[in-house]
Amino acid sequence: MKYDVVIIGGGPAGLTAGLYTSRARLKSLLIEKGLPGGLVTTTEWVENYPGFEEGIMGVELARKMEKQAVRFGLEIIQGTVYGIVLNNNIKKIILEDNQQYEAKGIILATGAHPRPLRIEGENQFRGRGVSYCATCDGAFYREKRIAVVGGGDSAVQEAIFLTKFAEIVYVIHRRDELRAEKILQERAFSNPKIKFVWNSVADKIDGDDAGVNVLHVKDIKTGEKSALDVQGVFIYIGYNPNTEFLKGLVALNENNYIITDENMSASVPGIFAAGDVRNKPLKQIATAVGDGATAAMAAEKYIEENF
Ligand code: NAP
Repeated sequence: MKYDVVIIGGGPAGLTAGLYTSRARLKSLLIEKGLPGGLVTTTEWVENYPGFEEGIMGVELARKMEKQAVRFGLEIIQGTVYGIVLNNNIKKIILEDNQQYEAKGIILATGAHPRPLRIEGENQFRGRGVSYCATCDGAFYREKRIAVVGGGDSAVQEAIFLTKFAEIVYVIHRRDELRAEKILQERAFSNPKIKFVWNSVADKIDGDDAGVNVLHVKDIKTGEKSALDVQGVFIYIGYNPNTEFLKGLVALNENNYIITDENMSASVPGIFAAGDVRNKPLKQIATAVGDGATAAMAAEKYIEENF
């Protein structure tokens, strides 16, 4: 099956790229391994994406982006890309089920996945108290006690969200200052259900057949250890890019993010990258959609000049 552009990944960057390539009348296919929307769908409420003055639910924003792109002709299929093979200017995309697609240009928009803490008990209690998605799992913790690990936007935003359900939310942060944006900090500091555990790291997660019941933490300044009586541990210590399937195809930085120029071109002509999978300082929905639009226009230009 032949396309002008194949977009891999259906978050805001991929969906925006698909909107723009479809409107440019390029035959466009988007391949997404789950449901379209990406990490936005794991955010309950988005309030820093312009155009929605009261904010919008993450799931709803994703659905609107998908519908808008499909309206202009973007085809979306579910599938997991196994690898990409170059044959002169043509790129062959091979899926895990062995389906194959050919494209003149590719836009990589595969995003990133939550980084694990790699502590004892994390894998054992995954899905039984250990979670990486407050929107998905928060409601299981009504009147329970929760620990959130991390101090960035995700940790603080999701800690605030979890107070809707939990009796108490501990935020365990390895420093004495948060990385999160100031407005989130203000809300967290004034929320009586949130307790900060500063200069501390999570050491071990313990529990029984019913799930998690203790998070062991260590104060890295004093060395003092303590045990928090919690039933849930939400881990928000950043993300790792989804670039394993590229297997050396394009240049990556030291943290495995795709290196691009300002037109979103990766190191191979005709391959572009957009959104959180790309090496860039600000990872937001607003920057992802900008990347997607730029990558689409660059792909259009590349196809015009090379085919
Ligand atoms: P992040 O900004 O990379 O923050 C990760 C946090 O986890 C930092 O506080 C870091 O501590 C801590 N950390 C990292 N490794 C750790 C470890 N091994 N043990 C303990 N703590 C560790 O990640 P994020 O909050 O998930 O955000 C990712 C990107 O998405 C950011 O660009 C963010 O702005 C964006 N985002 C934006 C919003 C929003 O606009 N509302 C919401 C979510 C995410 P240090 O601070 O000491 O490094």
